[in-house]
Amino acid sequence: MSEFPVQGDADGYDAIVVGAGPVGLTAALVLGRAGRRVLVLESETKPATQWRASTFHPPTLELAEDLGLIDAMLAQGLVAPTYQLRDRSGGLVAEFDFSTLSDATRYPYRLQLEQYKYVRILLEALAGEREVDLRFDHRVSDILTAPDGAEVHVETPEGPRTFTASHVIGADGARSTVRQSLDVEFEGITYEHRYLLLGIDAPLEDYFPGIACVNYLSDPVEHMMLLRIPDCWRVMFEVTGGPSDEEVVTDRFIEDRLQSLLGSHPMPQILSRQVYRVHQRVAACFRRGPVMIIGDAAHVNSPIGGLGLNSGVHDAYTLGKVLTSSRGDADLDAWALQRRTIALAEIQRITHRNTQDLSLSEGEARDARMQELRETSRDPQRSKAWMLEASMLASARQQRLVPEALIGAADDSVTTV
Ligand SMILES: Cc1cc2nc3c(=O)[nH]c(=O)nc-3n(C[C@H](O)[C@H](O)[C@H](O)COP(=O)(O)OP(=O)(O)OC[C@H]3O[C@@H](n4cnc5c(N)ncnc54)[C@H](O)[C@@H]3O)c2cc1C
Repeated sequence: MSEFPVQGDADGYDAIVVGAGPVGLTAALVLGRAGRRVLVLESETKPATQWRASTFHPPTLELAEDLGLIDAMLAQGLVAPTYQLRDRSGGLVAEFDFSTLSDATRYPYRLQLEQYKYVRILLEALAGEREVDLRFDHRVSDILTAPDGAEVHVETPEGPRTFTASHVIGADGARSTVRQSLDVEFEGITYEHRYLLLGIDAPLEDYFPGIACVNYLSDPVEHMMLLRIPDCWRVMFEVTGGPSDEEVVTDRFIEDRLQSLLGSHPMPQILSRQVYRVHQRVAACFRRGPVMIIGDAAHVNSPIGGLGLNSGVHDAYTLGKVLTSSRGDADLDAWALQRRTIALAEIQRITHRNTQDLSLSEGEARDARMQELRETSRDPQRSKAWMLEASMLASARQQRLVPEALIGAADDSVTTV
């Protein structure tokens, strides 16, 4: 990133959001609702439709209520009132019940909703925002910054263009051009294992009676996850060692892994296949002058627990609120520090612990940990403390993520599956 003297630009935007993923669009909606002039720049020609994240935790549902998105989300999502930890060979270890949180939130469950549907709901909401200008096929190539604004260089179908704004929000994903243009380190680790992610057309609830919508299967050799999403069942296998990414997505490899799960049940239709490399990385800082980074541009983590997308949406919502309350630099610095601290001390810590719990080697330590988790799920007080953390409610309340008015107890009107 280089510096330039910003000339007063009457046509400049209040904010430019780079990336029309779930996080960037959430930020654009918060700013648009507050009457800010926003330009969203997206390099792809249309919204992404791949299956990626699919879990929305209670605090994210609270802020979705504030943004008027909640009815559409509930109508299209599946309510998951519990999740299970299973031993792949030994069966159920612990079932964690979100109803322990029913005095703490109106949404005591995980909502299973595909990321692309959340994006679609956001786009519908943004269509009514006159101050938000969304442009696909616009790839940001560089950012020049000064204390009172920034200049964004963009490749467009009509050739290179430059836009200016008081603030720039980098929500351009894990390989963020914005983060790189700020020259900010993306510190952390890449796990040795990858995941094979499949969408399958199979009635797993009939094959494995008693399973929940969300199931983590611990195994010293190959841990996995079974996740019901509205479209289908998703199955995620740990992949270690030898096979290349190309081999992992072949019919032969997939059928072999599915056979190990399904036994004599028929081989299902494979609806999608992806290899997913997993990192724990947090940017060295989330703000440089007028430029902020949020979502995967600022932090990536293991998907075990479903916290990544949620914390990105929390970044977007809180940044939008800070920018529209316009109390200046000190507030933006405090925001950046708080969000980075949460990424490290909460999101990274919890998802890393969850990942380790699933992959412990055979032996006494593993037996003891499984027993500890079993006892936690059965003890009302410990179970509630666990769920406050797993649902992100503990940190959301500490940081006052949503206004008091959105905090309430559950009502009985939502149907669970
Ligand atoms: C294969 C896969 C599977 C996943 N599965 C899970 C899961 O099971 N559970 C889970 O919790 N999380 C999962 N994740 C992570 C989750 O999807 C992310 O946390 C989430 O997408 C973050 O949203 P975002 O808006 O920050 O970034 P993104 O969704 O990556 O959006 C960034 C947007 O910026 C655009 N962009 C990039 N560069 C530029 C540029 N230079 N100019 C303009 N636009 C640009 C991109 O095209 C994209 O639309 C998965 C991720 C992947 C890749």
